This record gives sequence, structure tokens and C-alpha cells, in this order.
Amino acid sequence: MRLQFLGAARTVTGSQYLLQLPGANILIDCGLYQGRDQEPYTPHHRFDFDPAKLDAVLLTHAHIDHSGLIPRLCRLGFRGDIFATSATTDLCAVMLLDSAHIQEEDAQWDMRKWRRGQQNTPPPGPLYNAEDVEQTMTQFVPVQYDEEVRVADGVSVRWVDAGHILGAASLEIWVNEDGVQRKLVFSGDIGDRGRPILRDPTLIESADFVVMESTYGNRNHPPIEHTSEQLADAIKRTVREKGQVLVPSFAVGRTQELLYRLDRLIASGDLPELPVFVDSPLASRATRVFEQHHECYDADSLRLLAQGDDPLSFPSLRFTRSVEESKRLNALAEPAVIISASGMCTAGRIRHHLHHRLEKGNHLVLFVGYQARGTLGRILQDGVKNVKLFGRRHRVRARIESVQGLSAHADQPMLLEWVQAIKGPRTVFVTHGEPESAFTFAKLVEAETGSPVCVPSLREHVDLLDEAALAEVHSHTQADIARHQAEERRRSETRHDRA
Ligand SMILES: [Zn+2]
Repeated sequence: MRLQFLGAARTVTGSQYLLQLPGANILIDCGLYQGRDQEPYTPHHRFDFDPAKLDAVLLTHAHIDHSGLIPRLCRLGFRGDIFATSATTDLCAVMLLDSAHIQEEDAQWDMRKWRRGQQNTPPPGPLYNAEDVEQTMTQFVPVQYDEEVRVADGVSVRWVDAGHILGAASLEIWVNEDGVQRKLVFSGDIGDRGRPILRDPTLIESADFVVMESTYGNRNHPPIEHTSEQLADAIKRTVREKGQVLVPSFAVGRTQELLYRLDRLIASGDLPELPVFVDSPLASRATRVFEQHHECYDADSLRLLAQGDDPLSFPSLRFTRSVEESKRLNALAEPAVIISASGMCTAGRIRHHLHHRLEKGNHLVLFVGYQARGTLGRILQDGVKNVKLFGRRHRVRARIESVQGLSAHADQPMLLEWVQAIKGPRTVFVTHGEPESAFTFAKLVEAETGSPVCVPSLREHVDLLDEAALAEVHSHTQADIARHQAEERRRSETRHDRA
């Protein structure tokens, strides 16, 4: 029983774990590395194994950093089943196609650069195209939450609520080998309690081995009660100034949570019924998938549906479809909310809306999510007053604000509670976190649960039934944590000296 960490090892992207059993090779998640600085980290064009020899893929959720390389796997010969919840399957149909278009556009761009002589080697072509996605979707096997599914000889799996995005799950995997049953748990991405629309994460009672995320393993989220209030205040102020609110938002998950909050604020009269536009084809399609999967909704959302109120829809909500409809928003004079992608303003229609509104002081750019360093979103959030967009300098006069509390990821206390509920794991592998976050969380888990903890590095593998091998990866982690802490201490002393 060999487990190899082929992604999301000491970073938050590219989830991919290979489980090799005597009777089957199983891949858990197959995510794309996102973010430019990650590019050299792993070559996307090949895998560390032969895709044709893989028996099954188990998918935790539809986010591209968990699902985005599956079409590549199929293009290179994988013909087995891809197991995922029914909602994840439908979201993948939309998101993987969108990803294929991005791959094809990027490949065309590289080809043009090569033809112009700006690149020495011919580009390798797209990772996959729309046809590959079409093939991929035929291999999906939708499953229901909480149903035990046999995925290979001696291997059965159950998908339970992870509370992260629609259809997201943690996996309980039972493996029978030589008459002994062992259980592995993969957390997927874990959400917080009390998120709108979705049920809370299911707490799992037992496991022999746990592989868990640690995105916010070193952070506590601020209390989320005031999120909707902040949202309403920011919008009302802009309405008074006859401006428009631009919300750069991730298309899947974040946009639907915003719609839910706006629906509630308008229903309660805390917000006037102003026009709200969702101007992102991907977000519009994803919202339709949400509306087809009420089986994922929590009790509050189901109650609203039973009362005849669709929590993702209200009379003044519009989904723009064509580019022309999107352009027409430029001429909009009345106060409105425009939700558009991308969430960090790196691409997409949001850049056009910013181009038309940044220089006017009555408009508001409202951030609802994390802005990575180097993105236009972060530059605006940092208060830079001069930005370049479409080759033109813009003097930023629009107000820039951020609303906290819309993260789809659990924070440290919730992650700890999730892992503490699992009785008796022989090892907890901490993945899907930057080193600072993963190491901090690993130390905490070991101290609080007494289970040995490993923070695997990329391509590290371990035979789970070999005690000596487990002890070795554990001691690697201990050494790396000690080194990391020493570096941190040195850095803080330098800062102290300078001060
Ligand atoms: Zn995710």
C-alpha cells in the first residue's frame, strides 16, 4: 500500500495523490498547478506514472487545482472511471471546458510568439482541448453523498460533506488487503461551519491514515456575522453617490455565496432592490448547476426553496450572456452591482469594467476574496493610485474596499476540530498548504492528537504498511520543521536588529 504525493505538497495547488495497491492504482484528485510561479514546479505535459495503467480517479471537488489535469490524463490514455459526486460532475463539465478554452488560447499565444522568433523551441501545444474534455466527461461516474461505492477490487469509498463548494467531499476509503481492512481519509478542501447554501463539513470518526489540507493552518478567520452587514453598507454608500459597485469574484462558489447574501439582504429590506449583473459566462453556467443540485443545500436554503424563494435568484438579478450585453453595461448610468471574473482581476470581463470606472470617484471596487501578490487585484487593494490597463494609465479615483469572511476554507480551529474527531490515525499527512501554514498546523496536530504527523514534499512516497518507512518520513518532517523555525527566528531577529 504505497502512497505518493504528486502535488499540493508544501503548496496550495495541483492536488494529486497516487495510491498503489496490489490490485489497483488509484489517483485521488488530478489538479492543475495554478499561478505562474508554480509553472516550473511540475511539468504539466507528463505524469509520473503511465495514465493507461491507472484504474480509477477519485475526485474530491471541481476546483481546477483539484480537477484541471484530468482531461490531460485522458488525452494520454487513461480510460478508467472518474468517481465524483453528481454536483462535482456537472460543475466539471462546465469548468473543464472553460479550462480547455484557456489552454487552447494560451497555446495559440505561444505559437505566435514562436513564429515571431521570441521563443527558441516550438511550443508543446495545448494540454488538452474541448474534444478531450468531451471524452473525459464520458468517463465520469456520478455518486451520491454518504453512499458506499466499490471503485476497484477490495476498495470501497464514501463521499461525505466537506462544506467547501457545491459537491465538495472528503473521502473515506476502505482497502482490504490480505484479509485486513484499513481505512484512509482524504480531506479534500474543508469549508467552515455556517457557510450559506452548503451543509457543514461531516466529522469523520476513524481512520488509519489521514491526508488533510492546511491552506489556513496558521490562521483564524474573523467572525463572519458581520459580512452581510459590511456588504450592505458598502453598496448603500455607493448607491447614495449614484455609483456602481464592481465585485471581482471567483466564478464558482464565491459568486453564488454573494448572490445568496444579496437575495437575503434585499428580502429583508436591508438593501434596496437595485440591479445586480453577473457578467461572467462561467459564473452564470455554474449558478445554473447550483440550481440543479438542491440535494447539496443546507436546511436554511431548503426552507427558503420550500417557501418559494430561490436563494440564488431575485427579480433585479440579470445574467449577461453575450459580449455585446457585457459592453452595454459600460453605458449604465444608474447605481448597480456588477459581479464579474476573474476574482483577482488578472483576466476576463472585470478588466473592462475597471477600465471604464476606475477614474470616477463615485464607483466602488469591492474585493470579496484573497488577492495574490502581483495581481491587479492586489495592486488596487494595496492602494496604488496609478495602474495600467489595456495599454493605458489610469488614475485610480474609485473607492477600493474589501469585505472579509467569504473564504471557502476552514481556518485553524475548524481544521483542528475536523482532525481531532478522527480517532486513532497512525499517521496524519498534512498537505495543501504553504510551508509556514503546513508546518505550523502539523506541529499543532501532533501536540493535540498525539498522532505522528508528516508534511510530505513533492514526489515523496511511503509504504503505509512499513513502520520504518513511516518513521523515516516523520523524522524528515521533524527536521524540516526545526530548520524552518530556525530560519524564521533568524529572520525575525534581523528585523528586530534593523528596527
Ligand atoms: Zn477547492
